[in-house]
Amino acid sequence: MDTLTNFYFSFPTRLLFGQGKFNSLGQEAAQFGKKAFLVTYPSPTLADQVDQAVAMLKAAGVETTLFRKAEANPTHTVADEGAELARSSDSQMVIGLGGGSALDLAKAIAVTATGRLKIWDIVEGAPITQPPLPLIAIPTTAGTGSEATQYTVISNREQQRKEGFARREFYPAVAIVDPLLTVSMPPAITAQTGLDVLVHAIEAYIAKVATPASDLFAREALRLCSRYLRLAVYNGNDLAARTNMMAASTLAGIAISHSDTTLAHVIGEAVGAVFNTWHGLTVALCLPAVMEYACIGNLEKFAQISALMGEDISGLSTREAALKSPELVRQLIVDLDMPRGLGALGVTENEQVLKLVTRPGWDAASPRPASRQDFEILIKGCLSPQMSYWRALEEAD
Ligand code: NAD
Repeated sequence: MDTLTNFYFSFPTRLLFGQGKFNSLGQEAAQFGKKAFLVTYPSPTLADQVDQAVAMLKAAGVETTLFRKAEANPTHTVADEGAELARSSDSQMVIGLGGGSALDLAKAIAVTATGRLKIWDIVEGAPITQPPLPLIAIPTTAGTGSEATQYTVISNREQQRKEGFARREFYPAVAIVDPLLTVSMPPAITAQTGLDVLVHAIEAYIAKVATPASDLFAREALRLCSRYLRLAVYNGNDLAARTNMMAASTLAGIAISHSDTTLAHVIGEAVGAVFNTWHGLTVALCLPAVMEYACIGNLEKFAQISALMGEDISGLSTREAALKSPELVRQLIVDLDMPRGLGALGVTENEQVLKLVTRPGWDAASPRPASRQDFEILIKGCLSPQMSYWRALEEAD
């Protein structure tokens, strides 16, 4: 049933999308001043792209301070260190070049470089009182969509926490989204990051706070990801596949920014906090069990997911079509030759994970709420090679 709802839509980022758009970095940066703070990985993975960026900035009269400390699941201490260096180097803008880890670190630095707050103060709820440094986000993975979201995700190793949190100030001023930057990703990284797009699209679509606007972005992201992820993984030079996956990633980012994620992210972020696992893969391995658990909360939308993933649902009841959707996700994970279940990543049942996921309200966006006991069974399902809640429930009975 279609319903008219009240909804809010605002997207403040100036977003440039297309093959070769990376070349506009100098021109985009020059509008913000003459000193840039560039955040990227310590590994040589993107060495050529970093050299190119520095050269383009120099040609535009912009001097660069390099901060090569973006590692998986970036921490608040590294963000504080970056903010201090951005301040002491009088940087006038921050540039993030890399996947979600680099972009999130760049966001945290841009927001805290101008004031006295540390990033963990903001995680704990402190209001942001100063305007941030302008941020130029340049994604090199097609996964998180961080270039188009008001989220950053920061870890605190001492507290074993990993928090994704939203503030309007985290939207980049400019996003330069160039699919050519993703061509160097090997198949496994293409698959792991690409699965994050699938999870964003599906969770934004099923979330209780989804709106007609977020649905538009989520549906198209899901359609593109279902059609092009296998192609991008198995032929990394397929530029049409790379371009469509990059578009899917950005659209899915806009979708989660105007809706939310649900239990796959709740469990996946908690697991990432404790076991430091790769984000996209972790949330993807939670998704089939989460979908089995949640689909009775919104059969219509889960039936639509099956159709958007390419399944012929004509002749099926809504319930039959909905129940197919977890299997389609599981099949994609298998087709991409990914590990089966969180157990294969070395994750085990863990009290801190359970404590994090059962915080009050963390199931609020899920189409089906979850009690502590539900989470216990759900996590068993996510850990198992079958990635199945239904099977874990049978075994618990
Ligand atoms: P990532 O940034 O951690 O990178 C994964 C790996 O890919 C790294 O080893 C990196 O060196 C490599 N890599 C990146 N680009 C490459 C390229 N072009 N060629 C070859 N190798 C390349 O991974 P990610 O999945 O992009 O980001 C994950 C992080 O983003 C997590 O911390 C997650 O929580 C966060 N996240 C943020 C948002 C948001 O809205 N802010 C949304 C979802 C996830």
